[in-house]
Amino acid sequence: MIKYKVTIGMEVHVELGTDSKMFCSCKNGMGLTKKPNQNICDVCTAQPGAIPVPNAKAIEYVMRAGLALNCQIANETKFDRKNYFYPDLPKGYQISQYDQPICGKGELVFDYFNKAGEKKETKIGITRIHLEEDTGKLRHSNGSTSVDFNRAGVPLMELVSEPDLTSAQEAKQFCTELRRLFRYLRISTANMEKGQMRCEANISLYKDGEDRISGTKVELKNINSFKAIERGIEYEIKRQTKVLDAGKKLVQETRGWSDEKSKTFSQRTKENADDYRYFPEPDILHLKFTEEEIDRIRKSLPELPWERSERFIRQMGLTEQNAEILVDYKEMADYFEQICSELDDWMQNTEEEISEEQQQKLYKLAANYLLTETQKQLFDQGLNIQDIKIIPENFAELIKIVYQGEINSSAAQIVLREMFEKGSDPSHVIDEMGLAQTSDMGELEKIAEQVIAKNPDSVADYNKGKENAVRFLMGQIMKATGGKANPQVAMEILKKKLN
Ligand SMILES: [Zn+2]
Repeated sequence: MIKYKVTIGMEVHVELGTDSKMFCSCKNGMGLTKKPNQNICDVCTAQPGAIPVPNAKAIEYVMRAGLALNCQIANETKFDRKNYFYPDLPKGYQISQYDQPICGKGELVFDYFNKAGEKKETKIGITRIHLEEDTGKLRHSNGSTSVDFNRAGVPLMELVSEPDLTSAQEAKQFCTELRRLFRYLRISTANMEKGQMRCEANISLYKDGEDRISGTKVELKNINSFKAIERGIEYEIKRQTKVLDAGKKLVQETRGWSDEKSKTFSQRTKENADDYRYFPEPDILHLKFTEEEIDRIRKSLPELPWERSERFIRQMGLTEQNAEILVDYKEMADYFEQICSELDDWMQNTEEEISEEQQQKLYKLAANYLLTETQKQLFDQGLNIQDIKIIPENFAELIKIVYQGEINSSAAQIVLREMFEKGSDPSHVIDEMGLAQTSDMGELEKIAEQVIAKNPDSVADYNKGKENAVRFLMGQIMKATGGKANPQVAMEILKKKLN
């Protein structure tokens, strides 16, 4: 029995993929150099008299995220100094936003499938999204510590959610949905392993009937993968349950997650609220935005992942599952759409009458070949869809050939593998390998007659009503034709001959 209810709020930091840093013209490229302190200037190392100038692109990126999440966008915003000391923070304070964030209340809605596979539409409130600068990095080696300021001043977006999440799995999905959104909006690659996206969870337990924020809040840090979000929170829920069951009180604290030890550990207790002595950054003016400016950004938003998935289901007839898998990986979905547009071209130019149902059949066929055989090839060879040698035109050609029944599905897989290796076009491969399907009635009739003559026992079985016997005879026809018989045509001929 579950004695306690769980409430979880997330804080998500994302490094924005702008060209330059937040308040100076240094390049914003973590991968630019591995050498420490190469990508720095007077501003991001806080030399006396250096003046910060806000990066307009970074502000726009935060607005894009906010608009996609239905947040209220502030018409006036400002930056504040968050004062604390740490060696990786050259100014002795971080430029952040306190009481006037760029984005206010919003929400993220997604379908959550619980462990029993039941679907639940989940709506998680967004409290705010603001903009700040990243810190430098400390490097520890041989008993000494040095500091690298290459990362200092990189634009960092912080999103805070309402404590609406109720399980570790839901929290994990919330974060993966966010990553997908940030990638679609092209504001960050949001790679957790590279520290471009960092998640912290605030977890507390409460009893049914009590106020959901009455529990003691524990903050969980050091989470560097989606798996760790789930594992860390699960561990924390168990730990807190044990403490409460023993009649003890929980301590309000910050805990770290250790992946190797699979447990959380106390980092510091928080008896008093942190006092950062926030005050307005005197070197940066307040920023004001007109409705027209906000509207311009709203209109520039690309199709969002959930909109795309809905379109794939409605317009292209894909299953919900296939649509979700495709959309999850933007480049794969882009490639799929290129194939579909080639198929559209063909459908418009062919003399055949193609119904909407047939059209969807073609799209579905393309999705299936992409998500099964192609995906497998990519995985086996450690490649991404961006590396694929097959141009969308050739992929569409193969789908068309399969659709028209010129080759059967096992031959299609051979052709696809060959295309994958060499990037060649399918008709070429089919000719070269002699894989074209035989629908030649005369030839198939002859073979069917031979098979029937050779297998009287099976024919007798069939006459007794054993349907399995047909499958055996079909197998014999396939064998005799080297797998090239068109299955529908062969079956028709076989049944005719048997009756
Ligand atoms: Zn700089």
